[in-house]
Amino acid sequence: MVYNRPVCKSLLEDNGIMKVDWLIVGAGFTGATLAERIATQLNQKVLLVDRRDHVGGNAYDYYNEHGVLCHRYGPHIFHTNAKSVWDYLSQFTEWRPYYHHVLAQVDGRPVPVPFNLNSLYALFPPRHAGKLEELLISEYGFNVKVPILKMREHSNADLAGLADYIFKNVFLHYTRKQWDLDPEQLDPSVTGRVPVYISRDDRYFQDTYQAMPVLGYTEMFRRQLAHPNIRILLQTDYREVLDGVQFNRMLYTGPMDEYFDSMHGALPYRSLRFELQTRDTEWHQQVGTVNYPNEYDFTRITEQKHLSGQKLAKTTLVVEYPQIHRPGVTEAYYPIPRAENREHYAKYEAEAAKLNGSVLFAGRLADYKYYNMDQACARALKLFSSEVAVA
Ligand code: FAD
Ligand code: UDP
Repeated sequence: MVYNRPVCKSLLEDNGIMKVDWLIVGAGFTGATLAERIATQLNQKVLLVDRRDHVGGNAYDYYNEHGVLCHRYGPHIFHTNAKSVWDYLSQFTEWRPYYHHVLAQVDGRPVPVPFNLNSLYALFPPRHAGKLEELLISEYGFNVKVPILKMREHSNADLAGLADYIFKNVFLHYTRKQWDLDPEQLDPSVTGRVPVYISRDDRYFQDTYQAMPVLGYTEMFRRQLAHPNIRILLQTDYREVLDGVQFNRMLYTGPMDEYFDSMHGALPYRSLRFELQTRDTEWHQQVGTVNYPNEYDFTRITEQKHLSGQKLAKTTLVVEYPQIHRPGVTEAYYPIPRAENREHYAKYEAEAAKLNGSVLFAGRLADYKYYNMDQACARALKLFSSEVAVA
């Protein structure tokens, strides 16, 4: 059952208090997965609260006035190597096979990203590209992924030169726009998400399972949460209902610092502004996403219909503008992975430990980890078996 804020009071039982086993804060991948497990496997009652007006967290999607399935919080492409996550989510959705492709505009030319052997031929004359291809294969082998920061350290001058070119043209300015930091100021795993790939495979991901939910993520969440033990309260900050709800345990998936009223100072996050544009043309671009590492203030443009597979006369684009995060004003979309922030986060982890498991913290914001959707889901499944089902 889903309630919106105005009917909040109808949740309350006779004595003005609602009794549940679990209060779960946040209806994204983490909160929804835990709610489903607790309701169906333990037959316990859950109140799932989200301050947004929908479930799904950042993966929320909806049909716009032109019938295009749009992602409100930026393009979400599902990919995983975890069969357990794939099997779990497959209970709630059918899938449409989809391989995401990305092109980056470099020197005015569309270049496949992750940078691979095809990218060499898209940029350089064939003989030069051929020599670089030979060099890459002889130094690293075929079908190998090399993070750009690692490749820059190579002792071979030609290879280091190529790495420098890729670094400057694909990574440096994109990263400055996205994070307001240089690649070296971030954990190497950030640029390592998009390594140089010594291969002819142009796909953005190589995971075993790559697909989009046929009817969208929101419908998948609706099915996942359709259980009589789960009540959903939207447009409500959990702090507003604490007086009216009696619960045994709590799962919190919001920003960790916010839970503790920023007692150790606000944790840094990066935010984005999404601009949705509908064009009176069938297609705008060749592939799902085009990155603009060097030009403009935005980082990338995604054409939603590539992701949904819809056939419609018009098309809708989402343009991503990175921006600084102001708590209470903007949404915290990305934790900023770097050593000093991990140390900062550890102070909150120590506070969380003092709660002795009465409140569990999990998710991209509460763990302060750059999770993909499958990782958030895997984290919730693991938490269920290690900390919830055994208690
Ligand atoms: P969230 O989805 O952030 O959910 C947390 C929820 O908690 C929110 O709905 C919030 O409103 C609620 N909340 C917080 N505080 C409170 C409070 N005080 N009271 C009530 N409710 C509260 N992953 C992929 O696998 N593939 C992709 O292509 C991909 N693209 C992405 C693109 C962008 C721009 C972004 C930002 C993320 C992308 N991700 C992608 C990552 C994906 O969004 C996350 O892994 C996933 O949504 C994390 O789920 P979560 O439940 O941990 O957090
Ligand atoms: N990146 C880049 N240029 C690109 C693509 C990615 O510099 O063309 C870097 C950038 O720092 C980015 C990171 O690699 O933030 C991770 O990229 P990904 O596409 O995984 O980001 P997400 O989809 O999570 O925003």
